[in-house]
Formats: sequence, structure tokens, C-alpha cells
Amino acid sequence: MGLLTAFEKVTKGPVFGCQMCGQCVLHSTGLTCPMNCPKQLRNGPCGGVCADGGCEVKPEMRCVWLKGWERSQKLPWKDEFNQLRPPVDNRLWNTSSWKNYFTKRDRQAPDGWSGAGEG
Ligand code: SF4
Ligand code: SF4
Repeated sequence: MGLLTAFEKVTKGPVFGCQMCGQCVLHSTGLTCPMNCPKQLRNGPCGGVCADGGCEVKPEMRCVWLKGWERSQKLPWKDEFNQLRPPVDNRLWNTSSWKNYFTKRDRQAPDGWSGAGEG
């Protein structure tokens, strides 16, 4: 693991629960890391959110997407929450999202993908 990747992991891990997916979308998800959703959804909740807001897979945990929506509404750029985010590129796991942002590697979407870019 390179120095930049290691630094990102130790700084974003404790603060955001970063799982090092290498393509950060925190800016558009209310600073809530969607990779902590057990289904690793990138575009909003599954249909199984419990009535009390708990996660259907881990009921002891509040649904990540519910938290994300609540937090996003307090941000000046709250509309970014509604942007369509491309699926996770599994080749980028454990690489630095900072580096991938500056090289634009994180904006390469799968063939045939016609959704909007990430926020
Ligand atoms: S979206 Fe990816 S890079 Fe951003 S905090 Fe979550 S796991 Fe880390
Ligand atoms: S309830 Fe929320 S956190 Fe749990 S799997 Fe569904 S979308 Fe993910």
C-alpha cells in the first residue's frame, strides 16, 4: 500500500468509516460513506429499511442511506444527493480516492453506463 493510500485510510477511516473503495462519493451523500451499507448501494436505500429507521441486514444500525439523506439536507449542496452515481468499480478498492480523483480515474464508468457523473 502506497503512502497516500495509507494516509487516506488512517484519516478517513476513523472520521467517515471509509472502506477504501477508491471512488469517493461522500460529497454527494451527506458525508456519509455508502460503503457501510451492507449491500454497498450507491444510489439510495433498499426496500428493506425497518420502520424505526434501522437496517434490515443489521437492525442495530441505522440505515446508512437514511442518515445520508438527513445529513445531506443540512448541506448547501444538498441537491447533489439526487445525482445518479455509477456502480462501484471493484478494481479501485484499496487505492487512494484522492489520487483517482486527480487522475480522473474515478470518473471512468462501465461501458454502456449513461448515468450522470459523481458529485
Ligand atoms: S465512498 Fe469510498 S472512498 Fe469515500 S469514504 Fe466511502 S469507502 Fe471511502
Ligand atoms: S436498510 Fe439501508 S443500510 Fe441496510 S442494506 Fe438497506 S439500504 Fe443498506
